[in-house]
Formats: sequence, C-alpha cells, structure tokens
Amino acid sequence: MLLRRLCCSLSSTPRSFFVAPSNLARRHNSFATMATAMPSANGHASPPPSLGDVRGNMKLLQSFALPYAPDMKVQKWKSTRTGLTLVWADFPSPLLNAYMTVPTEIFTDSGVPHTLEHLIFLGSHDYPYKGILDSLANRSFASGTNAWTANDHTAYTITTASSDGFLRMLPVYADHLFRPTITDAGFTTEVYHVDGKGHDAGVVFSEMQGRENTSGDLMELRMQRSLYPEGNAYRSETGGLMDKLRVLTAQEIRDYHAKYYAPHNTALVVTGPLPLAQLIDTVNSIDDGLIAAGKAPGPSGPPGWLRPFLETPSATPPIIDGSLRGDLPSLTPIDADVASSRDPLRRQTTVEFPEEDESMGEVYISWVGPKLGSWIEEEAISVLSTYLTDSAVSPVQRAFVERDDPLCTDVYLSQESKAGSGIISALFTSVPTAKLAQLDGELLALLKKIAKEGIDMQRMQLCIRRDRVKLMNHLETKTSESFADVLIQDHLYGDAGGKDLFTCMDDVARYEVLAGWTSAQWAQLIDRWLVCNARMVVLGKPSKTLQKSLRKDTKALEKKRKAALGEEGLKELTEKLDKARAENDRPIPDEILSGFRIPSEESIQWIQSGRRLIGKAPVSDGVVEGQVSKIADDGQTTPLDKVLDDHLAPELDGPQLPFPIHFTQVPSAFLTVSLVFPTTHLAPHLRPLLQLYLSTLFSLPLQKLDGSAATLSYEDVVRGLDDDTVEYDAGLGVGGGFAENVCIEVKVERNRYAEAVGWLRDLLWGSQFSVDRLRVSVAKTTQSLPELKRDGRGISWSLLRSLTHDEGKSSNVSTSILRMLEFMPALSERLGSKPEEVVGELEEVRRSVFRLDNMVAAVGGDVVGSGGKNALQPWRQLAESVAAKQQANNSASSASPVHLPWSRSVLTPLGRQPSKTGLLASLPTVESSYAVFTSRGPNSYAHPDHPALVVTVAMLNALESVLWRHVRGAGLAYGASLRIDVEAGQLHFSLYRAPDSARAFQEAKRVVQAVAGVREWAGSKGKDGKPSGLPAPSFTQTDLDSAKSLLHYNVAEGVSTVSLCAGEVFSDELLRCAPAGRGRGRALLSKVASVTLEDVQRVLREWVCPVFEAQTSIAAIVGSEARMGEIEKCLREQEGYEVRRKTLPIVKGAKDAKGEESSGDESMSGSESGSESESGSESESEESEVDGKKGKL
Ligand SMILES: [Zn+2]
Repeated sequence: MLLRRLCCSLSSTPRSFFVAPSNLARRHNSFATMATAMPSANGHASPPPSLGDVRGNMKLLQSFALPYAPDMKVQKWKSTRTGLTLVWADFPSPLLNAYMTVPTEIFTDSGVPHTLEHLIFLGSHDYPYKGILDSLANRSFASGTNAWTANDHTAYTITTASSDGFLRMLPVYADHLFRPTITDAGFTTEVYHVDGKGHDAGVVFSEMQGRENTSGDLMELRMQRSLYPEGNAYRSETGGLMDKLRVLTAQEIRDYHAKYYAPHNTALVVTGPLPLAQLIDTVNSIDDGLIAAGKAPGPSGPPGWLRPFLETPSATPPIIDGSLRGDLPSLTPIDADVASSRDPLRRQTTVEFPEEDESMGEVYISWVGPKLGSWIEEEAISVLSTYLTDSAVSPVQRAFVERDDPLCTDVYLSQESKAGSGIISALFTSVPTAKLAQLDGELLALLKKIAKEGIDMQRMQLCIRRDRVKLMNHLETKTSESFADVLIQDHLYGDAGGKDLFTCMDDVARYEVLAGWTSAQWAQLIDRWLVCNARMVVLGKPSKTLQKSLRKDTKALEKKRKAALGEEGLKELTEKLDKARAENDRPIPDEILSGFRIPSEESIQWIQSGRRLIGKAPVSDGVVEGQVSKIADDGQTTPLDKVLDDHLAPELDGPQLPFPIHFTQVPSAFLTVSLVFPTTHLAPHLRPLLQLYLSTLFSLPLQKLDGSAATLSYEDVVRGLDDDTVEYDAGLGVGGGFAENVCIEVKVERNRYAEAVGWLRDLLWGSQFSVDRLRVSVAKTTQSLPELKRDGRGISWSLLRSLTHDEGKSSNVSTSILRMLEFMPALSERLGSKPEEVVGELEEVRRSVFRLDNMVAAVGGDVVGSGGKNALQPWRQLAESVAAKQQANNSASSASPVHLPWSRSVLTPLGRQPSKTGLLASLPTVESSYAVFTSRGPNSYAHPDHPALVVTVAMLNALESVLWRHVRGAGLAYGASLRIDVEAGQLHFSLYRAPDSARAFQEAKRVVQAVAGVREWAGSKGKDGKPSGLPAPSFTQTDLDSAKSLLHYNVAEGVSTVSLCAGEVFSDELLRCAPAGRGRGRALLSKVASVTLEDVQRVLREWVCPVFEAQTSIAAIVGSEARMGEIEKCLREQEGYEVRRKTLPIVKGAKDAKGEESSGDESMSGSESGSESESGSESESEESEVDGKKGKL
C-alpha cells in the first residue's frame, strides 16, 4: 500500500526525533500518474537490466514500472556478499533523495535508537569531525542531512539538487551510518549530562523533556502500553523516557549499533533520476568498504540473526479483551469501575496530561486490524475511513462535528502496519471533558446504524474515485515521499526477495476491485473491524494539578541533586562538560572541505514553464521607483510561452475582462485556479470577520449563477466539491506570504477547468450566509481554542505582529491568534442575540472585498491540455453573471489597476522603525521559551544589498554554522535562525524552544558581533554561563562557498514540483515584482556568485547587528511563567529594552460546556498561515522556521 507514513512533518527537522504518531494524521493516499512527462532528466544510456542480473556485488531482485505511471520505475537490488539492500525509484525531478533505513527494534524505554540517531551525526571513522557531514552536504547542493526515529525504524535522509553531488555524498553518509565514532564526549553533549547548575541537559534530553508530557505523547505511549505486553518492542518509547535517559550509557548505544546497523539489516532507499551504472558503482564501493572494514557478517547476518519485529516476540498481535481482570498493564485507579463492567469488547484507560484549561480533552481508540499482506482489506479500510470521516458531509463529521455543540472539532481514522496484525486507530480532538467517556459508545452506535441501514453507494463510489485522484495528486506533488513511504515499509515488513513490492504499489488495481463491492460487503467490513472487534479506548484528560506537580517534581529533583553534589561536584561537572565540548568541537580541517568539489549549476534539472498575462497588470507594493509595472522580462521566451500564446490567441479578440488573468503552463495532470483579492478597502471593524468568512466559504448553501438559479444545500455543495475537485482552500496569503490578500484556490483534474471557475463564481457570489452554518463554524473554532493554545511559536509571532502591524489596516493581524481570543466568544454571543447583524456584516465584507475590479485570477497547470479551446470563456461567463447580480452594487470596473498590498503598507510606526520595545507573555502550557527579535531589513527584491544579505543569512542559518554551534550546540536553544522579510522590510531573529531566550539571544549577539568584527571575542559561554572552549567564531572562504552551494539547493527546492513552480511564477511576477520576474531564483544565484567575504562583513554590520541592539530592534517572547522573570530582567537591565507584559485574554469555553467557563490563557493558531514565510513552500511548519531553511530568499 502506498501510504504508510502517518505523519508528514519529516521535511526539515534535522536530527529531530520523530515518532510516527499514528493518532495524529489522517491517512493520505498518494500515488499518481504524471500524465504529461516532465523533460526526461537523463536518457539512461545502458540497456535496462533484467531480473537476476549481477553487477559487482549487487543482484537485481525486482524491476518494474508503475502500471498507471509508466515513467516511474522501481528497482530492488541486494548485495550477494553483505545483504545490503538498494531500492531505487526513478522518475523525473530536479531533486534526488536518499533515505537510509535501519529497522530498529528495542525492548526498553532507554531511547537507544533515538540517541544513536543523534550520535551518527557527530563524526565517523573516515570523517571524525562533528558537523562534517552537513558541511559537505552544503557543498553538494543539499541543505544538510536529516533523520527520524519512528517506533519501528530509523531513517537518515539527504536531498540534493545535483546527481553528481548526491553520488559523492552517499559513501560519506554510509561511513557515518556504519562506522560512527560514538565518543563519550559526544554522548555527554548530545544525549545527556548534568550541567554546572545541577540541571538536566543534553540535546536529546531537552528534546524529550519538551515532549514527554504533551497530550500526544502521553496518549500514544499509554496506548502502546495497553496493547502490547512486556517483551514486545511496539510497547517501547523509542525516543527515550527522561528517567531512562538519565542512566543510559554510551556503551549501551555502541552495543546496539553493532547489532542493528549492519548491511544485512539496512536498505539504501534512493529516489530521483540517476545514471544506473554510476549508482550501482557507488553502492558496490560502499559494500566493498564494509567487507574490508569487517562490518559484514554475511548476507543473512550472523548466526542466530532474527529479522526485527517479524521473527521476534514483537510479531505477536495484541489481544484486547475487556473481560480480563487483574494485571492489565494500563489500568489506573481512575478506571477501576470501568474494568468491573467486564465488557469483552471494550477496555478503557484514562491518562491525564498537564493543562491549565480543563475544559477539553481527547479520545483515542484502537482496534486490532488485518494481518500483514491483507492488501484488499487494508485498502478497503482506507477507503472506508474516507467515507466515514472525510469532509463535512461524512457520517462521523455530521454526527460529531457539524453541529453547534460539537462533540469534537476533528476526527482522524488511520491504520498502521505492524508485524503480526495492523492497528486501526481513531483520534477525536477537542472533546468536552465531561463527554470523554461516552464518545466511543456514540461512535459505536453510529457505526452500527450505518452498517444496518446500508451504505450510500453513490457517495462510496465518489470516495473511491476521490482517493484515486488524491493519490495521483500526491504522486505529482510529493513524489519522493510517496515512494519513500512504501519502500521503507517494504523493507520493514515485506518479502526480503522483493515479491511484495509490486503488489503493495498497485493501489489503482485495488480501487477497481473495491468499485465492484456491494453495500453488504462494506457493511460487513464495518461490522468485522469496528463494531464486533474489541476496542481499546484511551481518554486524554487535562489536569491543572498535574501541571503544577510536574514542575514541583523537577525542582525538587534538582535541589536534591545540587545538595548531594555540593560546590565541588558541580565544578567537576562543569569541567567535564567543557572538556567534552572542546573534544567535539575540534575544527574540521579546511582542506577536507575545500577539497570537496562543488557541482556546477548546469547539473540542476529545472522545470520549464510558460506564462502569459491577459488584461491590465496589477500594481504591487513591490514595484520600486523607476520599475515599469508589467511582467518583468526574464530575457528569455521559453517554448512553453509560445505554446501558451498559441492556445490563447483565438480568444483574445473577445470582450475585455474587468480583471487580469495570469496563466502558467507546466506539465501536470491538474490545474489550480486561484483568485486573489486585496483587503485594503475593508473597514477595520469587519476585518476579524474574514476568519469566519473564509472558514465557512466551502460549506454554505448557495444559488448557482449559471443561469439555472438552482439552489444547493450545504451538503450538495460539499458533495459537489468532493466530486469535482482535488483540493480547495481559502485563506489570507499567497505562496507563503502577502497575507494582506485573500486567496481562494481550487485544484481540479485538468479536464474540469470550467467546473473550477464555476465553483469559484458560485461560492463567492452565490453563497447564502445561513445562520445555522455560521453557528457551527463559530462553535468549532471556539471549541478548538484550548487545543490550539499550546503553540508557543505561533503566539510569539502573533505577539510580534501586534507590535509591528496596524490592526486597523492589517487583515493578517485582525485575524491573528491574539485577536481571535477576544473576537470569537463575542461573535458567538452576537450570533445568538443578533444573527441578522452578523449576516449583514458578512454581506458587507463580500461587497467591499470580493469585487470583480478588486481581483486577480491565476491559472496554473496544464492549461493547454485542459480540454477544448476555451481558456477565457469561463471567465467571461463569470464576469457577466457576477456583474448582473451586482448591478445594484455599483461595481463598474474602474480604470485603475488592482493594487496588491505588501505588509509594509500596514505597519505601525514601530514596525517601520523598530526600537526598544519588548513584549512578553507567559503561557502555562509551554515549558521553554520562544522569541522573535525584529529590526529593519531590505524592502525590495531589487535592493542592492539583498543578494549579500541572503548569503550572510544562509551562512548563519546553515547546519553547523557558528550560530548553530554556539547556540544550539551549547544547549541554549533547539533552534536559532534569521529570516529576511522583504515584504515587511524587516529582518527577524527567532529562537525556538530556548530554556532561557534572553541568554540565547545574548550568546547569538556575541557571536554575530565577533564575526562582524565589531566586538572582540571574549570566549564562549554555554548554558551555565561558563566558557565552553569553542574557538572564536569567524567566517572563512569555505563557509562562503558552502553557503552559495546551499542556496542552489534552496532555489531548486522552491520550484521542485510542477505546482510549486507554477505558484512561484505567479508570485515572482505579480506580487514580489522581482526584477527578473519568473527568473528570480536563478537571477539571484548569479548575483550571489559575486558576493565576497567583505560584502558579508559589511551586511553583517549594517543589517544583522542591528537586530541584536535594543536601539534598533523589538522583541516578542512567550514562555513559562517560571522563566519569565529572569528573561524580563535580563532584557531590561542588560540589554536596554523597555519591557511590557501582556496577559492573554481569557476566553469562555464552548457553548455546550454546561455553562462552565473555561478560564486561563488560550489562543488559537491557524489564521496566520502564510504569513511566516515568503518562499513558495506549501506549508510552513514549526520545524521549517526552526531551521530557517525555507523562506530565506
Ligand atoms: Zn532527536
């Protein structure tokens, strides 16, 4: 089956521990055809190998093309001498990926797999230097390396934009994987130590400290404990529990490495276009090296080797039986009465999680699923989960979510493969605490009813079709991840000879089988797996007391430890730590780095695009003086421009449209149609309503504007959208920025272009603001507030924007987390007392924003292949019918072009000239702190300092940069990075999960000032304030070259899929107004090439140093109350900020919570999407902010 990874945030958390939280993500489907081939990357010259072929050590076990995507091929090879597996998915792409996968089975909570994952990066036999792997990766058009540890495997990844760099990196990476140094010094800093103040520390320890007591981790672990007995590895916390990490030793990790990190247990999973002969040569040389080093006990491992999970006690599937008494591993006093009821089909356990607000909890249910290899049944369950939970008209959503007293705000149904039997899980979020225990009963009753009354077969057919289309879409947008999921899974649980590989990818054939299933068959499926199958129910209950006691426990432990150690003991610890740091931080000899050749730009396979603007070009704030407002000429006309022009030409003579349309042609099976509306003319008091408007847009009843005047209920609308579209979205922001503009987007298969335009017309101008639907939407948002408040990073940015953006002018800030805290409860009341007033205001929002003379349309994808010759006709029809409807509104098209605002137009005086202000807020749910510091930055893509600043920021943000070593390496913060915000004309420095933001800030400041040469380096300081022994930070020519190489990767990644590429063309030309238009990325690379170390020094002084000075910057910080005092004092007394505290508003709980008020600090995230990054990356995750890899251009 193609979609296995159940959590998706893999992309950019280097060395971040990653447990696939089966409960946290819906199962996405993901394989698709690239109906139009991208330019073939390299003609594989040699004839294709046949099964059984041997090249060197490697023997070909499997080779095929996907039946529904013939230009995507898979090969599986295995070494006859060591058992090393190579799986290669070959498809056209500008990026190459490796996922080196080791099944890592562990029977304790020691966290060995996770700690080992971290230690792999600290140096290897041939490359015994910490950070060398990333430093070399940066010189290979890669952004660095990455890894995750899941419950059953650890995977090490690298992505490069050059096949040459990729093949040279593989052996270096393999040396780290198979021959890491694992030194005591590395263990001390990276895993665990006690610092000079008696506090627990170490990178892994801090990471787990931040996670162990979150509701997600607590519930997941409780579920594992409840399902699996002692001796089964699925029971373990592979990340490491804190009290186990405190006693772990480096030797245990070495022993574990020796056993599991062997070639017979490892697969090199490789995706992207590569020359086969060179790939096999490279793997052969790695394989020979392993034999020479004595690391290969033979193709089937040493005598007695058992395949992890499949041949060990972990293969025994769990038994859930509620009638069993006695030593049920999970039973807690809270559950005693439930256990006595002895229902054999139900077991329940309750886990408390620390939370100030006790109004909302979570429910997590698991069932034992089909056995490994039950392909049809697994696919059927996957389709069933779409049927049951996908979209507002699905039975579970309708019964539980789409009501004005929601039982939960979201529901996820998923399944995971395991040795033995799989697990089916359902997660319900934001459930009123009083209703936690009754939820699974209501679910069962609903499922019984569905099974008895029969399946809506029309909708079922729709779900099968939709899953298939989504899979196709995923294969086009997340190609590499889609393959990696299934290839990793096959290595873990598939036939070692590769026999399952083809079957597991053949989803489309299974969809065909399922399309023939009867209603009775589906009903049986529900009965067998969900109704008559025993279920394990974990209730997640918020606890205020637990919050307090946890804090007390930590303090008590540290106090006791300090007393035991005494002054002397603490001093010894400091010395030990200093020694370890010095040993770890031995500088990498420059000749190793500079000897590693940087690939040439020609080796990148860019995606070609064509584009054309019809109508009057919009004006954006990005237009600099003297620049003509039109599509910039990037100096070249591509063949696709010509193709597009020819396609549009016959229609150009028709009537003029009152708005501009921008077309981008890229090879794709899909089309995305977007409408962008500036919000400049919206009255201030209406701005917060945009949140409600956008969140209900796709589920309101409407009257069609196609002349039929047909009326659709909201159910009809949701069903129709499901049928016609692949995905749809509405929000503030375009392409990861420009959040003063609304963007409404519909993605369809390319032959449904006219339908897409029709939907946009009806949704925007034909919808009716039904009060019932508005109530449902507001109730859902309000109920999710407590859950959303745990986002420390989101709140720190929201705080910052409350300083820099003018609420009267800025829609971004008016719909922010902080604003919604006050607005939503008030809105909820008004909807009760004066609904017609709210409806009237929404109509006013529509009149002022959603006007034909206030919009820009964009069409991206296979425009030419969209069926018929009518690219403009649907728009003309839209213009006519909307104008007819709006006659009374006097919306005659105006003569002036549409103006697309940048955030710099809505800044406060403080936002334009940041100085001295610090705004602090405490969050009860946050253990560490999150900070943003902001100063002025270049405000145009044409600014002469922009290229040099881009390089400088890349040098500071790179993995293993001076900032990385001194801040993250010293345990001062999990992440520290700079970001250029051209749109606002600002530069941001942000800290992520810092125990003490003020101290981390001060250290970063010292580093930057030393590198800039404005202050003498007075030794390095660690978390304890003591010298760390790190050498004085400086920038070398090698650093500069590496950063330039890294920027090649960043630019390539930003346009690495056809949909990203199309989005970037639009943003570059119409919003960013980059001088080179769609050639922005490559033009930047050519400017970057001439940046010198002197330029870097200069922009450090002129642009970067000011963000670290109170005179020229402002700060926004959130953190735990316990830490806030120290942070405030330091910022005020040592740094000179004028610090204010902000108390976050108290919100009333959801309407149905029996009149109880939930109090405490609450907040919401979500409405700020798109405001964090200016790059074209699709979603801005917490991690990407941390690493600063995205949005830096
Ligand atoms: Zn980690």
